[in-house]
Amino acid sequence: MPATASSTPDGRVPSQQDLDTLSRQLNRPVRDVVEIPARCVCGNPLVAATAPRLSNGIPFPTTFYLTHPVLTAAASRLEAAGMMNEMTERLGTDDELAAAYEKAHLSYIAAREAIGERAGTGPVPEIAGISAGGMPTRVKCLHVLIGHALAEGPGANPLGDEALAAVAPWWTADRCYCEGAWDNAAPVPNKDLSRHVKHLNQQEK
Ligand SMILES: [Zn+2]
Repeated sequence: MPATASSTPDGRVPSQQDLDTLSRQLNRPVRDVVEIPARCVCGNPLVAATAPRLSNGIPFPTTFYLTHPVLTAAASRLEAAGMMNEMTERLGTDDELAAAYEKAHLSYIAAREAIGERAGTGPVPEIAGISAGGMPTRVKCLHVLIGHALAEGPGANPLGDEALAAVAPWWTADRCYCEGAWDNAAPVPNKDLSRHVKHLNQQEK
């Protein structure tokens, strides 16, 4: 079936199992997750894409949320080691990097608008021009940058690519780190009724 503007790329629509896994990974019920833009080689979610407007009406700018505990812990280690300050300083002196990071900022907003369109949430003027993670001039959250890099692939976010390369001592894309990373036997924190599931049901009529 050919892709249309409103269709979601293959494999991105979250199953109930995906939503349960996300809730276990984060140890809280996930809300308004509409796509899984990056997965472990085993299929488990690495990143959740959240609708730009939550079902309670609140605008939500952090579209790509890093969920895998091994990755979130690795990103936190890099943050604690001062990587964000070092990157922000380089943005002030490296024009080429600054330009590429500005492009990443725009690509983040474009990806969010596309996700909002697919999820049926419509325009969210409250967060127009706003991305996340400190973009376009600062680095305030490596989790955001890594989430963006994983969701959009190499080249989308230069500092996300750098941070992703820097987590290699703890996580690499070529193998599964899920075993023991969260408690699969634990009860799911809560059942999620994602906006996307409702949206799909509407489309099926
Ligand atoms: Zn895995």
